[in-house]
Amino acid sequence: MQNTFLMNTYNRFSIVLDRGKGALVWDREGKVYLDFAAGIAVNILGHSHPKLVSSLRKQASRLIHCSNLYWTEPQMELAKILSESSIGGKVFFANSGTEANETAIKLARKYGKTMSCEKYVILSANNSFHGRTYGSLSATVQPKYQEKFTPLVDGFDYFKFNNIDSLKSKISEKVCAVIVEPIQGESGVVPAKNEFLKELRKICDEYNVLLIFDEVQCGMGRTGKLFAYQHYGVEPDVLTVAKGLGGGVPIGAVIANERANVFEPSDHGSTFGGNPLACSAGITVMKELLKEGFLENVNKLGFLLKKELDKLRKDYPQEISDVRGIGLMIGIELYKIPAKDFANKCVENGLLVAVAGNNTIRLLPPLIITRKQIGQAIQIIKKVLEEFRNEKGIARS
Ligand SMILES: *Cc1c(COP(=O)(O)O)cnc(C)c1O
Repeated sequence: MQNTFLMNTYNRFSIVLDRGKGALVWDREGKVYLDFAAGIAVNILGHSHPKLVSSLRKQASRLIHCSNLYWTEPQMELAKILSESSIGGKVFFANSGTEANETAIKLARKYGKTMSCEKYVILSANNSFHGRTYGSLSATVQPKYQEKFTPLVDGFDYFKFNNIDSLKSKISEKVCAVIVEPIQGESGVVPAKNEFLKELRKICDEYNVLLIFDEVQCGMGRTGKLFAYQHYGVEPDVLTVAKGLGGGVPIGAVIANERANVFEPSDHGSTFGGNPLACSAGITVMKELLKEGFLENVNKLGFLLKKELDKLRKDYPQEISDVRGIGLMIGIELYKIPAKDFANKCVENGLLVAVAGNNTIRLLPPLIITRKQIGQAIQIIKKVLEEFRNEKGIARS
């Protein structure tokens, strides 16, 4: 499918979505899908969540936008909630993940300059994904995203993910920050090793380097804790979040601890960032996540999903090579089946999934998914696995 008026920037599935309710979405023809992509980890409360709809309605009729020339209650309230439930720092609001990371990058550069004009290098990991604007893209170590757009921003260097020796070979007094995803999302759902993050934290302290965790995808309750770093017991100096924060309304945020809080008026800004509509969505989402038992339930659901997928891996060893992830952020690595083909078949069978890398299917259901819906998704995945197994059988004979 092509459109006369839209740029050809996405490999979209050939369906036109129309409405959603909970973990279900319907296309224009009225066909229903179980949504295990959740707008790429965005619709964490599902679709049309009554509380989110009502807070947006209320805020829209009161004040949608007024710029950052003024204070607003929703922005101040959301900053307080985010700060108190994470690293206790100061908050800056942006509109997306890449913008949150751009903010963190600028913050790191200014932090470095307070010590030395030579301290500007930012290190990031192989196979990372931090966004598509120039700063974030320069930190995104994947040729397919970078190659066509060089020259990139100066002063970025790279190390191997989960490899402390590689990091040590790149660290120096010139480095002002290291940015990593505690769980790499885009490149295939790869969690950082505990020893790696612990050692990374030590090295950053030794060299006066800011540690930035990009939790744009793995944050917001996705892993069964509010933020993924809380599984590791390693705190960053700067935390970036976006995707799920507004439950579907665009918003990103940066939380910086005291050491990293170096911006002064006119250093950075955004016209839309933190506008009352987006922040009222963020407040509603955060309040739901922080309700007693909510994250515990995400943990249980993640455990169930993983257990069921592990069973499928045992039953389909020729098709599935690995199942990994934490909570409701799960990657299914496929053996010799292109992930895009697999995802297309899932969609045909009524299950929306996301692709990561070339050979991994990413499951990122809304955090309000039910056990029954997990069971239904597993049945569809099983059916698709069976179809691929039969196809291969036919090809062989
Ligand atoms: C999606 C993502 C981004 C970019 O977010 P956008 O809102 O698309 O700009 C950055 N970092 C990570 C880890 C992501 O998953």
